Order: sequence, then C-alpha cells, then structure tokens
Amino acid sequence: MTISKSPVVTAYLGLGSNLASPLEQLKSARAAIAATVGIKERAFSSLYHSLPMGPQDQPDYVNAVMAIDTELSVLDLLQSLQVIENAHGRCRAGERWGARTLDLDILMYGDQQIDLPMLTVPHPGIAERSFVLYPWHEIAPELSIPGKGQLTDLLANCSLAGLKRLD
Ligand code: ATP
Ligand code: MG
Ligand code: MG
Repeated sequence: MTISKSPVVTAYLGLGSNLASPLEQLKSARAAIAATVGIKERAFSSLYHSLPMGPQDQPDYVNAVMAIDTELSVLDLLQSLQVIENAHGRCRAGERWGARTLDLDILMYGDQQIDLPMLTVPHPGIAERSFVLYPWHEIAPELSIPGKGQLTDLLANCSLAGLKRLD
C-alpha cells in the first residue's frame, strides 16, 4: 500500500497581541506554530507596534506576519491555531476586536478562496490593515493575493499612520 503525502501549501498568518506581555506572546506563538506537526516556518517578519482597531480603551498591539509551508488542510490549520490561541489564554467572551492575549488569523492559504461560516480566506480585513500589510510585504514583496491583487498595490493604498516597526 502506498500512502500519498498531502500537498504542501504556503500560507501566511497574522499574529497579534495586546495583553500579558505581547512580545512574549508572539515569541511563544511563533515557536508553537513552528513546532506543530505538518507546519514548517518559512519566514517571520519584524515585530510592529500598532494602535487598536475597534474599542479604543485597550492597550496598543504588537503584530507580525509569518509564512509557513503546511500539509494541514485549511480547517485543520484553523483548528491548530485556535488550540494555540487558547493555550495562550485567549478569552473569546469580550466585545469584537477587544483586547486579547493572542490572535492568530489565516491571511492566505495557497491560491484558495474560501467562504465558509467559520472561515474566510484570504482574510477579509487585509486591505485596510497596515499592521498586516507592512509586515507581510517585508517577507513577501512580490506576492499576489487571490481576489485582491498585488500586495505592493494594497500597501500603496494603506496609510502607515500609527504603525511603528520595533527593532
Ligand atoms: P478579525 O477576523 O476581523 O481580525 P478577530 O481576529 O478578532 O477579528 P476572532 O475572535 O479571532 O476574530 O475570530 C472569530 C472567528 O473568525 C473565528 O472563530 C474563526 O472561525 C473566524 N474566522 C473567519 N475567517 C478567519 C481567518 N481567515 N482566520 C482566522 N479566523 C477566521
Ligand atoms: Mg484578527
Ligand atoms: Mg482572529
């Protein structure tokens, strides 16, 4: 019997945190993602400091973007990321876009466009979010995003206001 291997897909993940030592949260999340069976890290952006979206009475965020190669299906990837969020104390009870220890979003999964109740890929917020576009462009300047166009063009139309790269 031959067991066929799952195809490897390149995916991009957005990481964010604004509670309980955000820098440590991102560092630990990166390690947990890279250690997941079926995932290999390809690249990790600089860390960025950003202002909160939505409710303004919350701390500023630290964000980054990670490129991975994965054999996981997109739904298994989502589930693995949610397990990692939960292990980092993510609480889902608060208001939308409220403070969180860790947010892991699937920005893109190969060339797939997915519209399910629990998953939209490419992530629908990409074009308006400087804290996604700037770190992402750092690690994938030539990337074209299914249904959305070139990352460079999205970046050119998105203000840098409030975003700071951390060294
Ligand atoms: P936003 O998605 O606007 O950045 P958020 O990250 O704060 O908001 P969450 O509370 O983390 O939202 O997730 C809410 C739900 O969004 C999740 O339970 C998940 O099923 C769904 N979801 C839809 N598309 C995606 C995606 N591309 N990546 C991660 N989760 C997604
Ligand atoms: Mg999010
Ligand atoms: Mg999320």
